[in-house]
This record gives sequence, structure tokens and C-alpha cells, in this order.
Amino acid sequence: MERILVSSCLVGRPVRYDGAARPVAGGLFERWRAEGRLVPFCPEVSGGLAVPRPPAEIVGGDGHAVLDGTAQVLTDAGEDVTAEFLRGAELALAAAQRSGARIALLKEGSPSCASHRIYDGTFTGTPVAGDGVTTALLERAGIQVFSEKDLTAVDSLLRSLETTPPSGPLPA
Ligand code: SF4
Repeated sequence: MERILVSSCLVGRPVRYDGAARPVAGGLFERWRAEGRLVPFCPEVSGGLAVPRPPAEIVGGDGHAVLDGTAQVLTDAGEDVTAEFLRGAELALAAAQRSGARIALLKEGSPSCASHRIYDGTFTGTPVAGDGVTTALLERAGIQVFSEKDLTAVDSLLRSLETTPPSGPLPA
């Protein structure tokens, strides 16, 4: 059975920077939960950050630039939390690989978990296109990352993977 690495806040765990959760509702998500497919993980908490914690944004690029050492993750007070974000990303990848997950379903907009949109590093609520740090690392390892807005696409990929030999390439 295909497993799905999922942001802990999306399964209802109150681990966001503000101490909240962002639970996903809906039939597909509940079915995956009941099937035991979901592997909840919070990169920021596992990387050593507290709940609650100061908001953080990527300054100088997106998650790929952080992996390449050309951007940093800073809190709104200017504290550098890049090391914690990188550690969380590495632990998320390890969790995915341990469980055999080839799909991740991660929270949009997060500097760790975003797959389309982050914030521009000015703490003014200005969105820009880009991946979070964990998303970037998972993608580089060949794991397909989706947001909570893409449940139908996840379902299509699940069906496809479950008719593909495990060693086969991921469908485009
Ligand atoms: Fe949710 Fe990811 Fe933020 Fe953790 S790091 S609270 S899993 S969005």
C-alpha cells in the first residue's frame, strides 16, 4: 500500500507556529486516514523548534535556494533558524524513506511545507511562487509533493502507483 507523508498540522495536530492546526476535511482524506496511509510529520518541530514559535520566512529565495546555501530562514525578529529548517527537512525525508512514501501532502504557504507559494521574506503577507525547504528536499529525492488543495491529484497518482511496480519510475 502506498503511504503519504503528510504535514502534521493537516491531520489536526496543533503544531503550527501560532499553536494552531489546519485540519483537512473531506472524503478522500478521511479514506486515506482510515486506510492507514498517512504518515504525519512536522519538520519544524522535529527540527527543534517550539510550539508556539515566532513566524519565519525565507529571505533571498525559496527552499531550493536554502538547500543551495544562497538563502536563509529568519524569524520576524531576525533570528537565523536555517539550521533547524534544514534538520527538519532531512528528518522528513528520512521519515518518508522509512515508510516507503513516494507522495507527500504538505501545507501550502509554509516556509517548510509549501509546494507553490511562500512569503517573500518581508513579513508583510506578500506571497511569491516557491517551494518550502522540506518540499525542495523531498522533490530532489524524487518524492512528489502536493498541497492540501490537490487531493484529487494525489488520488490519481495513488491509483497510478498502485498499478505500477514499486521499482518503476514515477509517472509524469
Ligand atoms: Fe504544518 Fe509543516 Fe508548519 Fe509543521 S512545518 S506546522 S507540518 S506547515
